[in-house]
Amino acid sequence: MFISEEAIQPELFHEDNHRPVIVPRPEHCISRKNIDREALKVLYRLKDHGYLAYLVGGSVRDLLLGKRPKDFDIGTNARPAEIKKLFRYSRIIGKRFRLVHVYFRGGKIIEVSTFRRQTEYDDREAAKAGLSEDSIFGTPREDAFRRDLTINGLFYNIADFSLIDYVGGMADLKAGVIRAIGDPNRRFLRDPVRMMRAVRHAARTGFRIDPKNVEAIKRHAYTIRLCSTARVRDEWLKDMRSGSSRAWAEMMMELGLFQYIFPSYEGILASQQGNRAKGLLLALLGELDASIRRREDVHEALLVAVLLYPLLSGMAEWEALRPKKIRWPTFEVRALIRGLLDPYEFSRAVRDEVSQILSTLWPITICSEKKSWPKRVVTKPVFRSALWLFNVVRQEAGLAPVTVRALKPAKKPPRKRKNRKHRYKKKSAINPA
Ligand code: ATP
Ligand code: MG
Repeated sequence: MFISEEAIQPELFHEDNHRPVIVPRPEHCISRKNIDREALKVLYRLKDHGYLAYLVGGSVRDLLLGKRPKDFDIGTNARPAEIKKLFRYSRIIGKRFRLVHVYFRGGKIIEVSTFRRQTEYDDREAAKAGLSEDSIFGTPREDAFRRDLTINGLFYNIADFSLIDYVGGMADLKAGVIRAIGDPNRRFLRDPVRMMRAVRHAARTGFRIDPKNVEAIKRHAYTIRLCSTARVRDEWLKDMRSGSSRAWAEMMMELGLFQYIFPSYEGILASQQGNRAKGLLLALLGELDASIRRREDVHEALLVAVLLYPLLSGMAEWEALRPKKIRWPTFEVRALIRGLLDPYEFSRAVRDEVSQILSTLWPITICSEKKSWPKRVVTKPVFRSALWLFNVVRQEAGLAPVTVRALKPAKKPPRKRKNRKHRYKKKSAINPA
C-alpha cells in the first residue's frame, strides 16, 4: 500500500502549512537575466500551454545566493507525456520516476519533472509496488516537502516572477541556516545521504547546521553505512571536487560521518597518530580546494590518492618501499592499498592510476634528493599529479616545494575545430525546441 508523507508526518501538512509564503518580484533578487535562456524557453512554453511552471531546487537557492547555478531544473503539473508533446526534441527518462529531458543545441539538457509526492528514497514501497502515476505525482506543496533541505525547497514561478516558499527556506537563507525539511530524525533515517547533503551545503555556503539537525546527524551517522556504496562514493567525490572539501571534511569528522564513510580512518583518528594524519589530510584538501578554484583539472584518481596518502605515510609497510634508486613500487603499492580501496568499488582503471600516482612519489623522492630529473620520470602520465601531492606534503613539513624545469607547461585542452559539415549534422539532429 502507498503510504504518503502526510500520513506519516501529519504536522508537515498542518493547515498553517497549506498556504505558502509568496515573495513578490520586487522583494527578491532573482532576475530573468540570470536564468539560463533555454530554461526560460521551457518555463514559458509550459506556462503558455496552461501549466504551472516553476524553477525548482538548487537553481533557486544559488540564484538567491548570487551564484551561477550548475543546472536549472523545472517543476510542473504537466505529466511526462504532456511535457514531451510540447517539446519536439525531448525524451522521457526513468522507469519508476519518469521525467523529461528537453534537448537543445550544443548538447544542453533541461530536466523537467512533474510535481511529486515523494522522492524515490522515501517511496521504496511504492516504487516496488509499481503504483500508478497518480500515487507518485502530487501537488506543488507535496513536491516542496519531499525535498531535502529548506533552502532547496523554494520555487520561482514564471507566471508572475514570484518566489513560493512552503518550507521556510527564505528565512533559513537569510539567517544562514541549514535545516532538513520536517523532522530531521525521520528524514535522515529515511535517506541517510541527506546528512551528507546537509554537510555539503553547510561547507559550500558557510551556513551553520541547525542544532536539532546536528544532534540528529550525530545520532544517525552510522546509518550512512546502510546506503549503496556507489551512491555514497559519488556523493563524497562530488564534495572533494567542490572547492570546499577542507571545510567539508572538518565538519564530516566533527559530526562523526567521516569515520563511517572512510572506515580506514576510524582507528587512526582515535589514535596518537590521528592528529598528524588529520592535519595532513586537511592540508592536502586545502590545497586541492585552491587547485579546483583555479580550475585546474583534477582526476578522480588524485582525489583518491589524497585520501589514502595520510593513511599510508604513517605505515611501516609504506616506508619499507623506499627504493635506493629510481624505481616504481607499483605492484607493492597496489597490494598495500587494495584493502583500503575495496569498499568503494572503484573501476580497475582508477585503482591502477591511484597506485601509479602513489608509487611515483618514490622516484620523485630520489630525484629531488639527487636534484636530477630523468626524462623517464617526468614524462610519466601521472607525474604532475604525483609531484603536486609530493609538494603539498613537503610544504606541510615546512620544506620548500621542488620545481622541475624540464616539465613543459600543462597542455591546454584542444580547441574545438569549426567543422561546418559536422555543425550542420548536429543542428539537424538536435534542434532548439
Ligand atoms: P548542486 O548545486 O550540487 O546540483 P542541488 O541542490 O541542485 O545542488 P541536486 O543533487 O542537483 O542538488 O538535487 C536537486 C534537488 O533535488 C535538490 O535541490 C533537492 O531539492 C532535491 N534532492 C536531491 N537529493 C535529495 C534527497 N536525497 N532527498 C530529498 N530531496 C533531494
Ligand atoms: Mg543540481
